Amino acid sequence: MKISIASGKGGTGKTFIATNLASYIAERENTVLVDMDVEEPNSGIFIKGDNIHSEDKFKMIPEWESKNCTLCGLCQDVCNFHAVLKVKDGIMVFPELCHSCYACSELCPHSSLPMKPVKIGTLDHYRKGKLDFIESKLNVGEEQAVPLISQTDAYADYHLKNKIRICDCPPGTACPAIESVKDSDLVILAAEPTPFGFHDLKLIIKAMQKIGKRIAVVINKAGIGNDDTEIFCRENKIPVIAKIPHYRKLAVCYSKGELVYDRFGFMQTEMGKIYSHIKEIAK
Ligand code: SF4
Ligand code: SF4
Repeated sequence: MKISIASGKGGTGKTFIATNLASYIAERENTVLVDMDVEEPNSGIFIKGDNIHSEDKFKMIPEWESKNCTLCGLCQDVCNFHAVLKVKDGIMVFPELCHSCYACSELCPHSSLPMKPVKIGTLDHYRKGKLDFIESKLNVGEEQAVPLISQTDAYADYHLKNKIRICDCPPGTACPAIESVKDSDLVILAAEPTPFGFHDLKLIIKAMQKIGKRIAVVINKAGIGNDDTEIFCRENKIPVIAKIPHYRKLAVCYSKGELVYDRFGFMQTEMGKIYSHIKEIAK
């Protein structure tokens, strides 16, 4: 089972839900928490464990070699991302635009654009009891998060296949968020019941429905704002599987980087409801 925790906007409680849910489930079965928000990973603030593996991550970028190049311009023509430019006496490659599709390199008649690895970030694997935690960090200044997200997912697929997986996804509806929920059995949308949160929730619901994802909503900070989110979910038959109340003591713990799933009775109840929903759809 791969469960993604996503949201239409930042600050709705994705990391809060993902870290507490993963820790709650890990007391019952082997669990993996993956921080897919590689541009700004912060699950690691809450999850401590032993570092059992670290590695650098790379993406492949073409590098021009002048020796046999005839300046035919084919590489520029085949690049859909405008990452190759033929100038008067050479070929320029713009790594930040390159999507590593290999087209220019494979189609060059003189093998003048071999693909070379360029480091884009790091991956760390931690373990604490029954919980495995994977965190990737994109290098500062690196433009594209998608290659690292996809490699992080592949690492979890390869090394931690038969465990329930909770993914803390990037916010919004852009490419990193869509890449993160790929292959998910369920996308749990963290929703804040305010007009702004409601607006962005509708955007992510639309995006998830378009790519055919099964969704459920968890309302975080219930009690602030209004009932629009719940009414909308009811009318559109989207299950609201838990409601976490707006409670000052929770916010205080969160601000100190502390988990709360086992410290408040209502958190045990709400995490239990989410876990039951996951077990139900796993049948
Ligand atoms: S396709 Fe190859 S030979 Fe042609 S301009 Fe590009 S690098 Fe040079
Ligand atoms: S690998 Fe693909 S995206 Fe990158 S420069 Fe070549 S054609 Fe463009």
